[in-house]
Amino acid sequence: MRIMWFCIPAYGHTNPTVEVVRELVRRGHEIRYYSFEEFRGKIEDTGAVFAPCDRFLPPLSARSEKKLRKVSTTEMSIQSFETTGRMDGMLTEDVRSFRPDLLVSDSACFWGKLTAQKHHLPMVCSTTTFAFNQYSSKYMKYSAAEMADMILGLPLLNASMRKLRPLGYQVKSALDIVQNKNDTDTIVYTSERFQPCAETFDKTHYRFVGPSVKAVEPRREENARPKIYISLGTVINSHPEFYRNCIRALQNEQVEVLISCGKAFDAEQLEPLPQNVRVEAYVDQMQVLAETDLFITHCGMNSASEGLYMGVPELLFPLSGEQQAVARRVTEMGAGRILTRAEADSPDAIREAVTALLADRAVRQAAAAMREDFLACSGPKGAADFIEEIGRKP
Ligand code: UDP
Repeated sequence: MRIMWFCIPAYGHTNPTVEVVRELVRRGHEIRYYSFEEFRGKIEDTGAVFAPCDRFLPPLSARSEKKLRKVSTTEMSIQSFETTGRMDGMLTEDVRSFRPDLLVSDSACFWGKLTAQKHHLPMVCSTTTFAFNQYSSKYMKYSAAEMADMILGLPLLNASMRKLRPLGYQVKSALDIVQNKNDTDTIVYTSERFQPCAETFDKTHYRFVGPSVKAVEPRREENARPKIYISLGTVINSHPEFYRNCIRALQNEQVEVLISCGKAFDAEQLEPLPQNVRVEAYVDQMQVLAETDLFITHCGMNSASEGLYMGVPELLFPLSGEQQAVARRVTEMGAGRILTRAEADSPDAIREAVTALLADRAVRQAAAAMREDFLACSGPKGAADFIEEIGRKP
């Protein structure tokens, strides 16, 4: 098969696709992966052809940049529609010359979804969050600011959608692109057990394949000092005060701490560091989790899943509505507990939470049960099987 694959410029959306693409290439399929220079290495390593899209991203005004830093869903969607318009000429030409049998698009990648619609191509949607419908979306706990952003933004979204009509994108409302439907063929990178309200999704169209990660064996040392790994992911990770509080909380404890602080601020700001704390801008997270006893996470879907995949109990510090949904689900599985905003401001409260979790056998067992559940999923091979099934449909 010839497959056009689309993703937005984000680690959390790209990472789960990597092993699926590798598997499809191994099976002899030809993949053109439309992505961005930051991800070139990861993508080329799979054997797919990397198609760079950086030049199509619209130049950002200071106002847009500020909104994007606050992860405004409306602003991201407007930028996505604009990017679609800027990519139209290149993609129309590529569809003609590459003649894809199938298109795979990230659920948040409008130019992928709209290309499938415009050119009447069969599409598989790649969803790196939970699947959301009217039932599971109740797990999202949006802040007032997030709600206002989405409600007030809808007319703006529809206006930017309408600008695409002369190019042949005949979508009635922006919501049709933003939301996913029950009859869209969709890969979800989690298990049926972890997915909230899994029974409300049509199983002929939704395939829950479990976390799509490169297999790594846990290698925790008995009797060593417990290892604590702290990360707020790759998007909203510039929270030096939070890292400082964690350092103050744990500097005199018999634990080893590794913080992945992201590339948004200079890690030297956190110096001088106590002897038991190390800070990096970016780490190989799966390798780190293999040795970790407790993960303090912002509950990005990938990070939380990777932690559970490695059987690691989690202290959950969600920052957005979607992360709240993940945090709630981890606590429902018994594999972690939430650190509130007030607790995060207090080194004493962080220390107490960490100490209690490290001593909690039930949480450790629940995390181990999640690992078993994830290992029993079909994984990247299952995702590749599903894509082949959809591609074979007449
Ligand atoms: N990640 C990593 N090293 C780091 C920090 C993050 O490899 O130092 C990876 C992590 O393994 C995960 C992704 O980046 O696959 C982050 O995705 P997630 O959904 O957890 O959060 P986001 O960054 O989108 O908020």
